Amino acid sequence: MIKVLKFGGTSVGSARNMRRVADIVKQEGAKITVLSAMSGTTDALVRIVKMAAEGQLQQIEEQLSALTEKYSTCIGELLEETYAGTAMALMNEKFDLIRREAAAFKPYTSERMIIAQGELLTSAIFAAYMAQSGVKVELLNAPSFMLCDVDGKVDTKQLAAHLGTLTADENTQYVTQGFICTNFRGEIDNLGRGGSDYSAALMGAAIGADEVQIWTDIDGMHNNDPRYVENTYPIHKMSFDEAAELAYFGAKILHPATIQPCKDHGIAVLLKNTMDPQAEGTRISGSDDDSRAYHAVAAKDGITLIRICSTRMLMAYGFLRKVFEIFEQHKTPIDMITTSEVAVSLTIDNNANLEAIVSELKELGNIEIETDNTIVCVVGHMRHDEAGLAARVLDSLRETPIKMIAYGASHRSLAMLIATPYKKQALQSLNDNLFQPC
Ligand code: ASP
Ligand code: MG
Repeated sequence: MIKVLKFGGTSVGSARNMRRVADIVKQEGAKITVLSAMSGTTDALVRIVKMAAEGQLQQIEEQLSALTEKYSTCIGELLEETYAGTAMALMNEKFDLIRREAAAFKPYTSERMIIAQGELLTSAIFAAYMAQSGVKVELLNAPSFMLCDVDGKVDTKQLAAHLGTLTADENTQYVTQGFICTNFRGEIDNLGRGGSDYSAALMGAAIGADEVQIWTDIDGMHNNDPRYVENTYPIHKMSFDEAAELAYFGAKILHPATIQPCKDHGIAVLLKNTMDPQAEGTRISGSDDDSRAYHAVAAKDGITLIRICSTRMLMAYGFLRKVFEIFEQHKTPIDMITTSEVAVSLTIDNNANLEAIVSELKELGNIEIETDNTIVCVVGHMRHDEAGLAARVLDSLRETPIKMIAYGASHRSLAMLIATPYKKQALQSLNDNLFQPC
């Protein structure tokens, strides 16, 4: 069985955890191991980028000295002398590169270059440890085969061709970086925060893997967000479509783009816990073997509601097309939409082009904007020919003002928009009313 294993930042966050990861990789016989940067690294690098943009070079030294402490401790605890020497030299080289990029900061390119160093360093340390433990291992440079086009999409044909040859030796285990890639200008870039899961899915599809395993520090996808809600439980089996809805609507355990390549190629996705490898975790596959009406709840913050009121919409056709075209021009996807006879409300999660969008929408009618909202989405099998299923969800939220409801597009989800301060209360009361631990 061909397996691609991906480990998140906490899983490789210390020498102790890296040893656990190495045991899992050996036991599972991973063909490719895809790694995030050690926990906290990307956040620190993002801070460095902000400081570099503002010319705060002294503050950057503080960040780098914390990173030096973290990485050199890990190297010292994990690696024997010769391997440790090489790893320390690489670390110093990377941090010097960051200093140079910060001192001659170029907005996009330096930012991407700085942010990429976490994955590059972490994967090199881990590969060295594998080699030290006697494994035949090869470290692959992801930006040499994760090549993106103008729209930031990875060229999957080239990926399959490159990676197929690069990983041809059956007796070698391969280690590489998640998250990073090369953009259409040939510069180092990334797939967006949390993008390592997506890297693993694309690599799995490219080499015809049977399984992509995503290892984190929680025992699978839970029925609700354990950070806000008491008495959640892991779901052991889930369909691709359900997992995609949950990931898209905020389940932090999985990057939302991960599911599609796996679904397209029939590759099972396993969500497993590095800290407790025996725990069953969640298996996501094509077989839809759960028919419960309510399977899980997810929430996504940072949502902006845009309401367009126009009497020109009354009995008119083509109005929605004009609205959608504006969002398309500004490359801004719409999450939820509801319409009435004279108004349409929709939500977006990316405000980068909000001002430009609003100024064009004003041509169509009166515009109202509300920021700081949360989409709460119940996922399950809410059959449209069964009475009471939507009612029970809404009844659970009796105490919560609801701004928008999206239901009926598929039987899989019922999404509601609420103001973010009501999120915790809404998630808890959905949990209390719709779920019993299994
Ligand atoms: N290290 C990157 C991040 O923190 C990518 C990832 O972990 O998936 O966003
Ligand atoms: Mg992640």
